[in-house]
Amino acid sequence: ASNSKRIDGEALAGQRLARVAGQVATLVDAHALTPGLAVVLVGSDPASQIYVRNKHRQTVAAGMHSYLHQLPDTTSQAQLLALIAELNADPCVHGILVQLPLPARISPAAVLAAIDPDKDVDGFHEVNIGRLWRGDDGPVPCTPMACRLLLHHVLGENLSGLEAVVLGRSNIVGKPLANLLLREDCTVTLAHSKTRDLPALCARADILVAAVGRPEMVTAEWVKPGATVIDVGINRIHDDAATKPRLVGDVAYDDVSRVAAAITPVPGGVGPMTIACLLDNTVAAACRQHGLTVPD
Ligand code: NDP
Repeated sequence: ASNSKRIDGEALAGQRLARVAGQVATLVDAHALTPGLAVVLVGSDPASQIYVRNKHRQTVAAGMHSYLHQLPDTTSQAQLLALIAELNADPCVHGILVQLPLPARISPAAVLAAIDPDKDVDGFHEVNIGRLWRGDDGPVPCTPMACRLLLHHVLGENLSGLEAVVLGRSNIVGKPLANLLLREDCTVTLAHSKTRDLPALCARADILVAAVGRPEMVTAEWVKPGATVIDVGINRIHDDAATKPRLVGDVAYDDVSRVAAAITPVPGGVGPMTIACLLDNTVAAACRQHGLTVPD
């Protein structure tokens, strides 16, 4: 597998973060405005703790305020809603993110609906889903936004007429990404667990995005030669009890590298870019709340 095919999400995210840091510096200097992001984690899920810590670290590194709220497993829905009401009212907080999944007791729909749509930097509020599907200005969910940026890096800005297959139809990845690609004039197929003959369908795609959560499901036979493959999946594999779990994507990387023109690795592909997009959304939210355009 040639290394030139590897889309370096880490490096591209670094460039994006540097750009965000520059925008933040301009907002601080010219408008005395420091964008602030509040991240709320309920419980002690180890993967979520890592994500939340990374978000906190990068937010601070970009010169923004980060407000981390780590609540115990025993937190009630009412307590969480009370915290969200406080954050909605806090003028220092421009973006609010509640880390999913929430404990089963708490309704994610109720919690997401309680966030002020203008502070909803995940873009999961129903108002923002509506804005997205209507083509209005508003926050775009971070992982789909990251996929779009990586595709633009490989293929240029013009994706018009390309065949795109998105595997997975979740509200956080597949559905919003299908919308973004449709907006870019791709011909989009949204595939899922009931789709017939996935390999043949995928083999038509110029752009193939896998977001299913099935380790290394997509193999070379599924991929059209020269296609661009974006692997959103993050799967922890335990080879045996003695070794630490390793991360793999939904795509069999080495196998697919033989046929794809470009492919994102896991880790180091979509993941880092997703955090950069979260910071982008926070800067944009702060600007909107203050009637400013986002600085260059
Ligand atoms: P969900 O579990 O919410 O959705 C999975 C989707 O895949 C569903 O639409 C499901 O179909 C479909 N699916 C499952 N099995 C198959 C199959 N065998 N064939 C075809 N389709 C299938 O997952 P998410 O969208 O939340 O996440 C997907 C993956 O992406 C996970 O590995 C997750 O960890 C990762 N992820 C990575 C992020 C990043 O920043 N890099 C961010 C978010 C997620 P159906 O609807 O029919 O059930």
